[in-house]
Amino acid sequence: MSARYDTGGAVVVIGGGLAGLMTALRLSPQPVLLLTKAPLGAEASSVLAQGGVAAALGADDDTALHLADTLAAGDGLCDSDVAAAIVAAGPATIEQLQRFGVAFDRDADGEIVLGLEAAHARRRIVHAGGDASGRGILQALARKVGETASITLCEATVAQRLVVDDNAVTGVLADTGAGRVTFATDRVVIATGGIGGLYLHSTNPAGSFGQGLALAARAGAAMADLEFVQFHPTALDGGGYPLKLVSEAVRGEGAILVDETGARFMANVPGAELAPRDVVARAVWRHMQAGHRAFLDARSLSGADVARRFPTITALCRAAGIDPATQPIPIRPAVHYHMGGIAVDIRGRTSVDGLWACGEAACTGLHGANRLASNSLLEAAVCGGWVARDIAATDRVRRRMPATASVTVAGCDPAPVRPILSRAAGVLRDADGLRTAARALHPLALSPHPASDPALVGLMIVIAALRRQESRGAHARTDFPDRAPVARHATLSLDEALASAREFVPNLVHSLGESR
Ligand SMILES: Cc1cc2nc3c(=O)[nH]c(=O)nc-3n(C[C@H](O)[C@H](O)[C@H](O)COP(=O)(O)OP(=O)(O)OC[C@H]3O[C@@H](n4cnc5c(N)ncnc54)[C@H](O)[C@@H]3O)c2cc1C
Repeated sequence: MSARYDTGGAVVVIGGGLAGLMTALRLSPQPVLLLTKAPLGAEASSVLAQGGVAAALGADDDTALHLADTLAAGDGLCDSDVAAAIVAAGPATIEQLQRFGVAFDRDADGEIVLGLEAAHARRRIVHAGGDASGRGILQALARKVGETASITLCEATVAQRLVVDDNAVTGVLADTGAGRVTFATDRVVIATGGIGGLYLHSTNPAGSFGQGLALAARAGAAMADLEFVQFHPTALDGGGYPLKLVSEAVRGEGAILVDETGARFMANVPGAELAPRDVVARAVWRHMQAGHRAFLDARSLSGADVARRFPTITALCRAAGIDPATQPIPIRPAVHYHMGGIAVDIRGRTSVDGLWACGEAACTGLHGANRLASNSLLEAAVCGGWVARDIAATDRVRRRMPATASVTVAGCDPAPVRPILSRAAGVLRDADGLRTAARALHPLALSPHPASDPALVGLMIVIAALRRQESRGAHARTDFPDRAPVARHATLSLDEALASAREFVPNLVHSLGESR
């Protein structure tokens, strides 16, 4: 049994990354209860972001060019109206972030410095503190949250279930550390970030394992394009969690991919080391599956250059006992970003009344089958603002106070799911592997096991990957290597996923019972 807390009409925002903080700040002066399981500034992908935020600010740039790059990366699956609206909102959102106290890097003339990144046709990446942009942005916003009286911050508080009555939210059940509480509210925003923590190797914080997706799915919300998981091809294979990034910029400066024999295995792939992320990730993965190890060899750059141009990466390598000036850097593909998520419209509304989602947890259609680098911070900031605007413009529907939730939630441990999902829903997928994973995840998802929520999200990803019988963007099926003639979004509810699981894998347990 949980205690009941009447929020007095406050909006409950779940997640303290960029999306959650923007939503909470833009809702001011409306009261907000901000729940976050880690302290602000910790355990969020937003804090780890190195590159920056994409926005068409340059004199030679415009939003049509930014849109074209976004659509090209998305491999036919972007929602072009949504993408056009989000990139068009980029410049105003950068201004808004500055009003909240974010100090973007400027040149000697005081102009914002615009960086260039792979697959962007123009310089349009803004940084705040060089390659520690995410930290710089989050620190400024966290300060602003502290100064905003309308926001009540509940750190170390884990949202465990949504309370829903007749497809409408009435509360959030959370573990506050000091006991379980049902927060009575008719407006909830999920901004819980990505799913990398469901895999053995990821650049995401270990706590990013899709809890928001489980909350929404169990509440009956539709998910979209869950099968699209972006792998970064060159994570430092140095152990620990998360894996550290060795960014494209190192390859851009001339570093090459080699194996343990010194052979350059990407030389014959179109674009070689500078091919798109998914192409490089597949080449590295195939070579590893053939029994090799993969390394990034930056020794052709002079030692002084590596250290000067890439101080963060040099420090990370040295911490792992590698000197990039004299030794090849061991790398491997690692889960980096989830294009799929909770299906939302352009206002951030889900299919459940009173439930919004934004940031990486949501699927707006901006990224399609593959995310363009630096578009995700943009999306989190823009859509957080739009969710706030929509909530502010929507009349409250006062719903019955929820009964205190009596459901048992046995903690949340993604560890048993990681090897299963990594094997089946990795860089390359096929029906046999995905079916095997569904068979293993299904009973876990339906049980009161601590891995139940992670298994449920893992199962939905696996079912989405089984249903998409084509290869597109980051979703590569070895048994369906071609793209389908028409690109289609795929939505999936929990009930549909369970029905599909029974079709794809016979003899599965049928009822969700109490674990829902
Ligand atoms: C290493 C790395 C580098 C990146 N570099 C870039 C870049 O340069 N540019 C770019 O655009 N994108 C980049 N990305 C992607 C980008 O950082 C993320 O997509 C974005 O920050 C997601 O923001 P978010 O607010 O949705 O989620 P997050 O920042 O991950 O925040 C999620 C929040 O939800 C909380 N939470 C989760 N579950 C619960 C729960 N059950 N209850 C309460 N709280 C919960 C977490 O504690 C956290 O506070 C990078 C990602 C990584 C991992």
